[in-house]
Amino acid sequence: MTARVLVVDDIPANVKLLEARLSAEYFDVITAMSGPEALSICDRAQCDIVLTDVMMPGMDGFEVCRRLKANPATHHLPVIMVTALDQPSDRVKGLEAGADDFLTKPVNDIALIARVRSLVRLKMVQDELRMRAVTSREIGMHDALAEAVAVNGRNGRILLVDDRPSSHERIVGGLRSEQSVDVETRPQEALFRAAEGSYDLVMVSLGLADFDPLRLCSQIRSLDRTRSLPILVIAEPEDDARLLRGLDIGVNDYLLRPIDRNELCARVRTQVRRKRYTDRLRDNVLQSMEMAVTDGLTGLHNRRYMENHLATLLEQAAMRGKPLSVLMLDIDYFKSVNDTYGHDAGDDVLREFAQRLKRNVRGIDLACRLGGEEFVVVMPDTDAGVASIVAERIRSRVAGEPFAVQKGENALDITVSIGMAQRLPEDGGADALFRRADQALYRAKRDGRNRVVLDAA
Ligand code: GH3
Ligand code: MG
Ligand code: MG
Repeated sequence: MTARVLVVDDIPANVKLLEARLSAEYFDVITAMSGPEALSICDRAQCDIVLTDVMMPGMDGFEVCRRLKANPATHHLPVIMVTALDQPSDRVKGLEAGADDFLTKPVNDIALIARVRSLVRLKMVQDELRMRAVTSREIGMHDALAEAVAVNGRNGRILLVDDRPSSHERIVGGLRSEQSVDVETRPQEALFRAAEGSYDLVMVSLGLADFDPLRLCSQIRSLDRTRSLPILVIAEPEDDARLLRGLDIGVNDYLLRPIDRNELCARVRTQVRRKRYTDRLRDNVLQSMEMAVTDGLTGLHNRRYMENHLATLLEQAAMRGKPLSVLMLDIDYFKSVNDTYGHDAGDDVLREFAQRLKRNVRGIDLACRLGGEEFVVVMPDTDAGVASIVAERIRSRVAGEPFAVQKGENALDITVSIGMAQRLPEDGGADALFRRADQALYRAKRDGRNRVVLDAA
């Protein structure tokens, strides 16, 4: 996995040092000597991750980070702060500014590579989701990105896996004011709880007595339900090797004992915020995928979905030798509803019609709005005899009760004409079937409307 790393430092020797180490690991390195220069590189989307010095004349590293994180176009760029002093207050200030991590000078080689690698991995996932969210925004949906940027990292639900009371009590105490923490002292139970509870973060102590904590971490990573759950491990300073293993298998972050309370809170907030950000993006992608196959007015499937899905249903029916029927429905004299009561009343009728349609077909039937006042129902495993009973039921439920429109101001008598056809073995695809249903519908109209006609074939 390679990535473009931007190294920002006002001292050329420092830049050279980091550049050499990162290049040795096959990262592409670009450099900037000041905050403004770094911002303009990021603005042009020329890097995947930023490693910035804290102390720089003019604009310091905190400010660079704050500006990157405040801008929806660069918010997703991971930022690692490089601080000269091993000052907890500096680290916390960095995390508060939105930094994703920090390293202290002199920079430990292994920590550098592990941190960069783990953040690059996270960014790849988010980039993919962001790209789709941006696409959905461009086609007119709400601004998912701005909304995602606004999430904060408080009031998260956290599962703490730690079997030592003296340790977990301390951690729970430290987080109490801003997070809600469940403690699990039995590592064997932890995976189930992680999968079943809706947690924002799992914290795992590397000091578990009779269980390999890294095994738990790798199980969390491989289970579908918990794959995107962040993991923060708590390690002893001498745990170096296991910590690196952990970062390799997908641990997101770590804390070293003795735990500094401010750092604990800040790191937990960062993980919770990232989880929520990624969740929002994922929800947005799912939602836009759903919108692409749904008719906005009625909530029924749209024509595109029906066409894709019908091909599959027809193949299945042919393969299993099962019947399949379709209904083609068209509301009668719908134009006059619009002409007399207005377009909004027409929309009310379409929505109510869709509700009645849905209530009168089975879950496995596919009800779609083709467009205008035309609808289709595809019924797998259904022969013409059963389909005509369903069609007649729909017809009578429409004609039987007036449609309330304009918030109940008017009630309109509505009727529907329905054409019906059953799949024949010689039908190549959907076209012939649809044509027959359409012809039956045409006859239903011609013969006086408000009726069901079965295709003669
Ligand atoms: P018929 O009984 O022969 O089906 O007559 P009809 O008036 O229902 O059929 P026609 O195809 O002449 O008119 C359909 C009307 O549906 C015309 C169009 O303006 C209206 N329409 C199409 N889409 C919408 C919509 O989304 N909302 C509303 N309110 N009207 C729509
Ligand atoms: Mg009509
Ligand atoms: Mg029509």
